Amino acid sequence: MEELSDRLSECYDVSGWWPAGSEWEVMVGAILVQQTTWESVEKVLDSLKERGAMDVGAMASLPLEELQEVVRPAGFYRQKASRIKGLAIYIVQEHASDPRRLLEGDEDDRREELLAQPGIGEETADAILLFAGRRPRFIAAAYVRRLLNRLGILSSEDYGEVQRFMEAELPRDAELYVQLYALMVHHARTVCRSRPRCQACCLRDRCRFNGIAGRTDFR
Ligand code: SF4
Repeated sequence: MEELSDRLSECYDVSGWWPAGSEWEVMVGAILVQQTTWESVEKVLDSLKERGAMDVGAMASLPLEELQEVVRPAGFYRQKASRIKGLAIYIVQEHASDPRRLLEGDEDDRREELLAQPGIGEETADAILLFAGRRPRFIAAAYVRRLLNRLGILSSEDYGEVQRFMEAELPRDAELYVQLYALMVHHARTVCRSRPRCQACCLRDRCRFNGIAGRTDFR
């Protein structure tokens, strides 16, 4: 896995891939990015900031219809607005309006607490824990699963299995997880797409899917 990380690091610069922001901003971004691209999320985050709504308390009291209109460019705006507002209200009521309290303490407990919130599944919960809390949870997103499968490293669509595999392969280091996740997603979005561009791929000499003889994994 270290070699995969090194190879991808030689191919791409992903510094600043997930923009720095407050814990709450990262939580909102993690919900907004469900089933869409980060580009459309950024527009919504900017709009929320312009309205002074990038604050848990302000978000909790923002009328739902108004929030829906702001969220609309990110798609699924009714669901996403409800999820964001619901999470804001939960943090106000249960964590004294401090989103950091939802990230502290026992990691498994915090993950369960996030998963208990409407519309927050494993990928979103892990994105919040990793990017907002800097907790070492590898996000076993579909892009990651596809790349592992094609490279011949692990063939599984089971989120938990892929996450456990990655965490067993890597040192428990959140910054390392952020970096490798960013590299893998970037590679899967730009080159190893659903129709892969193998001729342009910097991993093609090591990829089982590409039919190249020789070593086929990076473990
Ligand atoms: S060689 Fe093709 S299938 Fe393999 S990682 Fe590169 S783009 Fe993906």
